Amino acid sequence: RLRLAPRMSRLRPSPTAEISQRLRRLAAEAREVINLGEGELDFDTPVHVRRAAHDAIERGETKYTSVAGTQVLREAIRDKLHNENGLDYTLDEIIAGPGAKPLILDALMATVSPGDEVIIPAPHWVSYPDMARLADGEPVILPCDAASDWKPTPERLAAALTPKSRWLVLNSPNNPTGAILTAEELSALARVLAPYPDVLVLCDDIYEHIRYDGLPFATMPEVEPALKSRCVVINGVSKAFSMTGWRLGYAAGPAPLIKAMETLQSQSSTNASSISQAAAVAALREERDFMDEWLTTLDERRHIVLEAIERAPGLACGRPQGAFYAYIDCSGLIGRKRPDSDVIKTDGDVAAWILDASGVGLIPGAAFGTSPYLRLAYAVDTDVLRRAMQGIVDACKQLG
Ligand code: PLP
Repeated sequence: RLRLAPRMSRLRPSPTAEISQRLRRLAAEAREVINLGEGELDFDTPVHVRRAAHDAIERGETKYTSVAGTQVLREAIRDKLHNENGLDYTLDEIIAGPGAKPLILDALMATVSPGDEVIIPAPHWVSYPDMARLADGEPVILPCDAASDWKPTPERLAAALTPKSRWLVLNSPNNPTGAILTAEELSALARVLAPYPDVLVLCDDIYEHIRYDGLPFATMPEVEPALKSRCVVINGVSKAFSMTGWRLGYAAGPAPLIKAMETLQSQSSTNASSISQAAAVAALREERDFMDEWLTTLDERRHIVLEAIERAPGLACGRPQGAFYAYIDCSGLIGRKRPDSDVIKTDGDVAAWILDASGVGLIPGAAFGTSPYLRLAYAVDTDVLRRAMQGIVDACKQLG
């Protein structure tokens, strides 16, 4: 019998992958299924980025690179952070890796000692608590609610901080709620952190460019320069440039931490794909005309979703400010009866019913630490989304 390491018992498989698997099973039965679970844009990677990758291959840039990423890429990241975020970093304060995800894990692995606490506002991206546990830390969930627009309040942060606190994880625009932290809200959190000099701040800015209604973007080290030496900015090309499969993310922060992350990367993935690095240089350096069109399309989809949710008995949803998710309150369906007579008890039951009745895959809020909710990703073709939303409305109407 294969004996797995004890650390495996601290991890759950990614819940988003689980729903995708269930959808594939339904599809194999020749049912039409629509996956609104996956956090991935349906747009093609921009053509100039794809060309840059081809060119890199033809130039023979198909070998290992330096662990932290090629100099041209780190320069492009440095200039991006300077020009767009007003942040000045030197090249030894920047690392590129195979996605934002492994860089977040590396940042935690490099700093968390057994028993250290990682404060994670909920609802949260599915991976943070598991990553904290993998790094021998304790995830401390800081509950947020719809009444405060899903944002961590200074009072709740103050209550969560202890002498063991090591990290505060901020993710704005947020997955799964779309909430965007304003400069004032970040400053208020910074004031609470001031007396805790050992607490680091992870700023997961991966959805930076996906915002609606003209809302501005702010990140902690920009708003509070005094805290910059305690912040790690995480970003990447997955979401902004529809490049999830290219696996390219980056981090910027204090040189000793970046150096430690580089050591970890040197003993694991070595470096991000050389071809993806060349593509990311083009993504970060060149014109972004395509982005306005993408955002217009996403905004239209956001309205399709909100309009349908209003028609769906038992569902309710606030207006997401950014990213491409709706976080839908399904408390109105708890206690209702499926036509096959099962009573719906959890958001998992709601997601299962919607999947069975309409073939539409959503992720239960439990995966993000807040129930009963459903996360819907409106990152699929607009007509497909319209069909999916009608399916959801019909499924809700069928409940007794
Ligand atoms: N952070 C958040 C909040 C995300 O939603 C995701 C992807 O879903 C990531 C990080 C990971 O991005 P990457 O594809 O760069 O690893």
